Amino acid sequence: MGNKKKIGGKGLLLESGLFWDVASKDEQGQAEKTAEEYKKFLDKARTEKQTIQRVKELAEKESFVVVDLDKKLPKDKNKLIFVNRGKSAILVDLGKEGLGAGGNFLIAHVDSPRMDLKVRPLYEDGEIAYFKPNYYGGIKKYHWPVTPLAMQGTVVLKDGQEIEIDIGLKDDEPIFLISDLLPHLDSERNDKPLGKAIDAEELNIIVGTKPVADKKVKDRVKSAVLEWLNKNYKIGEEELFTADIRFVPAQKPRDVGFDRGLVASYGQDDRVCVFTALKGFFEARNSRASILYLVDKEETGSVGATGAESMFLENVIDYLIKELGEMISIYNFYRKSKAVSADVTGAYDPDYKQAYDPNNVARLGHGVVIEKYLGYRGKSYTMEAEPFFIREIINLFHKNKVVWQTGHLGKADAGGGGTIAGYLSNRNMEVVDMGVALLNMHAPCELASKADIYSAYKGYKVFLEN
Ligand code: MN
Ligand code: MN
Repeated sequence: MGNKKKIGGKGLLLESGLFWDVASKDEQGQAEKTAEEYKKFLDKARTEKQTIQRVKELAEKESFVVVDLDKKLPKDKNKLIFVNRGKSAILVDLGKEGLGAGGNFLIAHVDSPRMDLKVRPLYEDGEIAYFKPNYYGGIKKYHWPVTPLAMQGTVVLKDGQEIEIDIGLKDDEPIFLISDLLPHLDSERNDKPLGKAIDAEELNIIVGTKPVADKKVKDRVKSAVLEWLNKNYKIGEEELFTADIRFVPAQKPRDVGFDRGLVASYGQDDRVCVFTALKGFFEARNSRASILYLVDKEETGSVGATGAESMFLENVIDYLIKELGEMISIYNFYRKSKAVSADVTGAYDPDYKQAYDPNNVARLGHGVVIEKYLGYRGKSYTMEAEPFFIREIINLFHKNKVVWQTGHLGKADAGGGGTIAGYLSNRNMEVVDMGVALLNMHAPCELASKADIYSAYKGYKVFLEN
């Protein structure tokens, strides 16, 4: 058969349709259902630790067993979960072929931009008690004043016991707030460039305004806050120093628009990929080993024991090879493996056309985004997927009717971004980036299309099954 196709004929153009035009009615219904599940997940996964905890609970319901690297592998168990410091996790479904055949990896990150605390956070100024935060990840500072915040985290007490702090999510609980200057007095700041209008040191979280009764005490409001913390949680300033406390937006995940087509929520970068990868992972009928690797610290450079650069993955693969008596080396296991790096990208925003290259940016509702490469300017720090691998994925998506589109972050000189794909690619694995396009990524409230959430889940599942 010769190629009889005309220029511009079907098959020559790279076309992507709106999911709502091309998906079956049944799948459109499934997209709505998946979004409901997703919102419930997000509501209980506001920090990296809560996300791992929620994943662990869901995995246990799917009969995964928690494995301790210091103990023997439980006998005859195919579905395993390894947890590192409560902040990263590796889920393994051993499949039927053994590790000698390599595996299919999905990797996503559980951390999102937020307000952490400085080492001595509590102070009083103008008879108001504040926590002084240190922002975590890439934020736009003007987003955070007057955004209702919840305090979420864990504290280790003097006896070594870890307790949870969870304030601000229930309707009858207090929230926390960073104040902003009234417009009447803001003329000087109004003339500053957006990025310089707010200094990080001006982002302070109001935590109390009532004093202790004793008028001789210095910093009476701060003292009252300390008394409250001690009474309710048995903690003082030493515990605040050692704790993992995060201030995150307190709003619940909600639908957006008359048609409820979008989900608005904090933390969708990258928990939309955590959720969809997890759902695909649970449902996939795979013959090769499947590995879902959930990492922390992506937003701050992937450094540390729970980040993508950690040796935790080597700990787990090495353990499995030994416990299962496999003959393959860890290096060859990597070489024979394939990975999808599941992370979000920016969706085209008609309000900010100038930032995007309209032919190359992903669009809301056009399905899961395959990103051939990311990086900065002249492809700096770029992990680029190999042509054969992208072809393999696209063929699978055509065959299984996964709605997909191409994507690329923005104009070359506008900035750029990276994902954790490179850390697996450096291990000589075939890797491609694939995820959901968001509007206002990294804002306290991000938007994702229900069409894309569903398509990501389906895409990840199809990848694992092949
Ligand atoms: Mn991300
Ligand atoms: Mn991010």
